[in-house]
Amino acid sequence: TAFNDAVSRAKPLNAFLVETPDHALAAADAADAARAAGEELKPLAGVPIGMKDLFCTKGVPTTAASHILEGFTPQYESTVSQNLWNAGAGMLGKLNMDQFAMGSSNETSAFGNVISPWRSNDGSTAPLAPGGSSGGSSSAVAARLCPGATGTDTGGSIRQPAAFTGISGIKPTYGRCSRWGTIAFASSLDQAGPMARDVRDCAIMLEAMSGFDAKDATSLDLPVPQWEQSLNASMAGKRVGIPREYRVDNMPEEIEALWQQGIAWMKDAGAEIVEVSLPHTKYALPAYYIIAPAEASSNLARYDGVRYGLRDLPDGANLQEMYAATRAAGFGDEVKRRILIGTYVLSAGFYDAYFTQASKVRTLIAQDFEKAWESCDVLLTPTAPSAAFALGEKSADPLAMYLNDVFTVPSSLAGLPAMSVPGGLDRKGLPLGLQVIGRALDEQGVLNAALAIE
Ligand code: GLN
Repeated sequence: TAFNDAVSRAKPLNAFLVETPDHALAAADAADAARAAGEELKPLAGVPIGMKDLFCTKGVPTTAASHILEGFTPQYESTVSQNLWNAGAGMLGKLNMDQFAMGSSNETSAFGNVISPWRSNDGSTAPLAPGGSSGGSSSAVAARLCPGATGTDTGGSIRQPAAFTGISGIKPTYGRCSRWGTIAFASSLDQAGPMARDVRDCAIMLEAMSGFDAKDATSLDLPVPQWEQSLNASMAGKRVGIPREYRVDNMPEEIEALWQQGIAWMKDAGAEIVEVSLPHTKYALPAYYIIAPAEASSNLARYDGVRYGLRDLPDGANLQEMYAATRAAGFGDEVKRRILIGTYVLSAGFYDAYFTQASKVRTLIAQDFEKAWESCDVLLTPTAPSAAFALGEKSADPLAMYLNDVFTVPSSLAGLPAMSVPGGLDRKGLPLGLQVIGRALDEQGVLNAALAIE
């Protein structure tokens, strides 16, 4: 009954692409049996979670919200999802998302946009974007359809949707969560992470999701810390950095006020506030929108109509024509835009001017953070430059959409852990998020600072 109720509330949000009640029920039954037998319960025993459709799930269709993967049912389980099942969780279903995780509003899904459960209180009935690319995850958790969901974050796709829907989400240090079995967008940036109602739930889920995996060459061979057990909201003795360059032009007053509120909370928790400089911040977005499409153009070359999902074979077509027809029919506009940009910036005549240059900028951005850590322990910024916008508001203007990632992309380029937590509501009653960025491997510091805000 509870499941059917959840499904009927879920339908209008379009958050789920596939429903897997049997999977969730099996986990619940296993938890009941363990409890009856007096066994110690696993950390996520019986907890029904949503899986972003970027994670391959054995025997369950996985599309990355793209037509090109329609009909693809993986024969294997991603490491992250397997880790969650090992911790006792079950899967309610596969969650809608921006196609191949490219987007900030969930409007690039081939299966219809997701709608945020939030409405503004200014009388407007326009449905709002749940953020992206993990918009099915944010919408499902915000609507209380599941207590937690997986997300992936390449340039902000966990943090921005969490901010738009009033929930929490953390992107760990690059390499904490295995990328094996997670459909690749930009391999040097992609990281999985949890999205949940609060910081504690994120800590519990992240512990389950993380860990070394020999099947991912960039997986960190380090033990997983006990983040939940070490949660501590006191910031006594901690220095919180406020990066000067994040005070961007035309920053809405309400975002500035949110930031000041966050600073006040940090002081209340005992922190010392220090101003820091991250001088290359303004080059982060352009560098990201070269590096991410470059890697995507390479990763997405595998969708050729031969090995996975869709095949479009016009009468009498040869192999090249089959590739072209399949990719033309299977990829959405945003994916094609990224592939075109990516192949352009990697092409012989432009490689040095674009890709090499962007890679150098990436190093400078990482060095900015290294320098900042000399004078602070964590950084505090807004998560996004605005609250959730209306669906359709930015979909015709890719640049306006890309600008939404201004605060999340730098830490992605540097591979640092970063988290969004709810910071209050704007004048229209819509949630705003505060972002905490930490040193590499210091998820604990990030979670603790986020707890101080929560
Ligand atoms: N919005 C960014 C993009 O479109 C980030 C996406 C992500 O983190 N997956 O690339």
